[in-house]
Amino acid sequence: MRVIVVGAGVGGLTLAHGLRRAGIDVVVHERDSALGRPQGISLHIDERGASALRACLPPAHAAMAAATMGGPREQTLTLSEVDGSLVVESAQPSDGVAGRARPGRQAHRPLLRAVLLTGLEDVVRFGAEVTRFEQRGDGTVRVWCADGRVDTADVLVGADGIGSAIRRQYLPQVQVVDTGRRMLMGATPLRAVAESGLPDLIGDSPASMRAGGTMVALGVLRFTESPVAARQRWLPALCPSAVAKVEDYVMWALPSTQDRLGSATSPATELIADLPSALRSVVTQAWPETTVALRIGMIPPPLPWPASPVTVLGDAIHLAPGFGANLAMQDAHHLRDALVAANHGRFTLLDALAAYENTMRHTSFTPAKASA
Ligand SMILES: Cc1cc2nc3c(=O)[nH]c(=O)nc-3n(C[C@H](O)[C@H](O)[C@H](O)COP(=O)(O)OP(=O)(O)OC[C@H]3O[C@@H](n4cnc5c(N)ncnc54)[C@H](O)[C@@H]3O)c2cc1C
Repeated sequence: MRVIVVGAGVGGLTLAHGLRRAGIDVVVHERDSALGRPQGISLHIDERGASALRACLPPAHAAMAAATMGGPREQTLTLSEVDGSLVVESAQPSDGVAGRARPGRQAHRPLLRAVLLTGLEDVVRFGAEVTRFEQRGDGTVRVWCADGRVDTADVLVGADGIGSAIRRQYLPQVQVVDTGRRMLMGATPLRAVAESGLPDLIGDSPASMRAGGTMVALGVLRFTESPVAARQRWLPALCPSAVAKVEDYVMWALPSTQDRLGSATSPATELIADLPSALRSVVTQAWPETTVALRIGMIPPPLPWPASPVTVLGDAIHLAPGFGANLAMQDAHHLRDALVAANHGRFTLLDALAAYENTMRHTSFTPAKASA
């Protein structure tokens, strides 16, 4: 069996490792260069993502990913200001119940990406933007890249994110809706804000605070094991630049709207005007290159479609900004299992893909809908 994965995001790379470990021939076509593009600095990884990483990655990769996450996040804090000091006003369990976050750990996104790329150097083709595909009479699928390259396989997986070219051609009825919401995000070195007391106050827990018309979400990432030491111990093949200069930080996010961000002359300064000074300084001391304004979209869950050798996973078919990476990795895990079963002759390829898509509808569409 040969599988083409379009997109070297968290979902596509998790799948590529899982297939390769099972002896299935896989190639990943990635539009961007190896440097990638800014997508936010950290990810809350819950049990769905963590178990996909354990199942699909080689053990040393999974150990490296786990060693370089932050501590357990078992509650979500609400902060307020009393007499000029930040205090914890309330704590909710992160138990995944009634819309609450699931427990998990914070991962440094660029480091996780580098871990996922390690060992796939002969599998991932960078600068390969897939523009279209064709299902052929012999059951195979052919793809065309913008640079004229052509590739053929038994299965095509669109893991190409929110703007998925595969979804647009395969499932044109599926529409991405711009919610009008935006998220200004960045990261600030922990050492720059240590004296504010904020890092000790919130520990490893995600926290948020509302002040005036502003909400800020915060999370401290203290690497459980120093990334340099963890690389040495678990994954010496990891590119050294992935761990060099990586240090503990506070991630912050300011939800906003298109109108508010668009009319602001200096978005961060205007958004934080109502916040206490300790939180304003978290935002103003951010590493400039980490600050990005991200669009928040949603995909209304589509009606089921008939299975074919073309399928999709992750943000290509469902969006959940707070936990979409977990869903993308969970899809990759389920799709790996389905393709391995088909490869061993336990199911026909189409039955395996139909089973995967049904599982995805139950496990990924519902929470994505809820998050919208
Ligand atoms: C503000 C914000 C915060 C978030 N926080 C979290 C969080 O804490 N936890 C969490 O689980 N999730 C979080 N998410 C969601 C998470 O980022 C996504 O759900 C996740 O990255 C989706 O993974 P993916 O593999 O499906 O797609 P992506 O990671 O988007 O990867 C798609 C890849 O496909 C490539 N590509 C696109 N088009 C083509 C093409 N035509 N040809 C070839 N390659 C192509 C892209 O370059 C990219 O590398 C957050 C999202 C946002 C916006």
